[in-house]
Amino acid sequence: AAPAAAATAAATEEPIQPPVDVKYTKLLINGNFVDAASGKTFATVDPRTGDVIARVAEGDAEDVNRAVAAARRAFDEGPWPRMTAYERCRVLLRFADLIEQHADEIAALETWDGGKTLEQTTGTEVPMVARYMRYYGGWADKIHGLVVPADGPHHVQVLHEPIGVAGQIIPWNFPLLMFAWKVGPALACGNAVVLKTAEQTPLSALFVASLLHEAGLPDGVLNVVSGFGPTAGAALSSHMGVDKLAFTGSTGTGKIVLELAARSNLKPVTLELGGKSPFIVMDDADVDQAVELAHRALFFNQGQCCCAGSRTFVHERVYDEFVEKARARALQRVVGDPFRTGVEQGPQIDGEQFKKILQYVKSGVDSGATLVAGGDRAGSRGFYIQPTVFADVEDEMKIAQEEIFGPVQSILKFSTVEEVVRRANATPYGLAAGVFTQRLDAANTLARALRVGTVWVNTYDVFDAAVPFGGYKMSGVGREKGVYSLRNYLQTKAVVTPIKDAAWL
Ligand code: NAD
Repeated sequence: AAPAAAATAAATEEPIQPPVDVKYTKLLINGNFVDAASGKTFATVDPRTGDVIARVAEGDAEDVNRAVAAARRAFDEGPWPRMTAYERCRVLLRFADLIEQHADEIAALETWDGGKTLEQTTGTEVPMVARYMRYYGGWADKIHGLVVPADGPHHVQVLHEPIGVAGQIIPWNFPLLMFAWKVGPALACGNAVVLKTAEQTPLSALFVASLLHEAGLPDGVLNVVSGFGPTAGAALSSHMGVDKLAFTGSTGTGKIVLELAARSNLKPVTLELGGKSPFIVMDDADVDQAVELAHRALFFNQGQCCCAGSRTFVHERVYDEFVEKARARALQRVVGDPFRTGVEQGPQIDGEQFKKILQYVKSGVDSGATLVAGGDRAGSRGFYIQPTVFADVEDEMKIAQEEIFGPVQSILKFSTVEEVVRRANATPYGLAAGVFTQRLDAANTLARALRVGTVWVNTYDVFDAAVPFGGYKMSGVGREKGVYSLRNYLQTKAVVTPIKDAAWL
């Protein structure tokens, strides 16, 4: 057996009492927090202990109908798409201010419900939500059409109109950031929204949605339905009153929602799906720096990132040194209560993911990879897993093919740039890649040859509101963030009028 992670003691200590109360547990429909039509509720669980945090209204098809009807009214008759773009901008900017004013409460809720470290939610995620809202608020009054020249004596305007009611389905690994990536551009363009949160993490979206109303969002423009995928999620995907669908989650579910959208009203669909991203360390690399960056690229957010650098390709000349240092770094990783200062890794999201990850670890061992660190649960309660490192991983092993979505690093050896390009591209995914080298020619060659939506050179996981994100191949359809997001939420209309005696054509 591999040595256990040294720094996991904190996972066995008494859980810290979260410094926040749960205020909102009902569905948000037409500006009101309401019970599910069925009266049903479901438990959302603290991943540190498995204890129930709160029971939340469980929306299903009937609630989705109510939410879509409210959104339709808000879009077809309400003030939101009709007010000036500057007024919409100001609502989003006020919302960003309110997020900052309530930052501690929001961060604590996100940590409690999702197991992310408080340092991460406070230091990065909540500030990023405010940043994204200001970015999209800034766009609201800069969205406009064009006048284009036509061959005949015609005046042709191309209008960019909001697309209507957007259905949005988000996952549990970044509940607030996914809220921001989806709701921000949709509202900036003047649309109405029905958002379905992930069943594991319903709390933070309800809280920030209440702030959005405080900021002046009219009723019905944003509706939030908590609930499960096959019921609420499927009802939203197949709803005839929804004009556009945006989904983030697994590739398998992405195929289901695309099919539901196609079979109903052919609503356009954008998909942000899974990945098996390569992190490539060239032979000229400073090994200490490469180890640290590769470690963060995989272990960030408990390894629960769609773009996790989950295949660490290391050049044969530095491979042995890299493996030894990657092992040492993983053993140092501080696992424990995410509310505690200095903790780097909290629990996995739930028992299902916890079990799935440990099965992947077993599969790695069974297929002959060398377990050099971790490999077991950390502590005795909750869903903590030891930072785990496999060396001697081969391309055909399951741990090198499938998305583990946990703190399990797989290290593979390569010899040439051509070889690593071929192997890095040999998966159905194409979300992101990392390249670590001082050689400009290697960096440029790899950046162009890798079939992925984002290449980070000598860095990883840098997200910026203006930079597009999305996948090649089975990692997705379309792009989010930046100006690219706006295109998902706009329709294009040509208006043609004849011009008599045109002076210029
Ligand atoms: P998931 O696909 O099971 O769930 C995602 C969302 O879809 C949830 O809200 C869920 O309730 C809903 N859903 C489930 N079944 C549904 C159905 N039949 N119809 C409609 N909706 C349904 O994924 P998950 O396990 O919660 O999230 C992890 C996955 O998300 C990983 O594979 C990860 O790579 C991916 N992800 C991708 C990105 C990206 O930007 N590409 C970002 C975050 C996560």
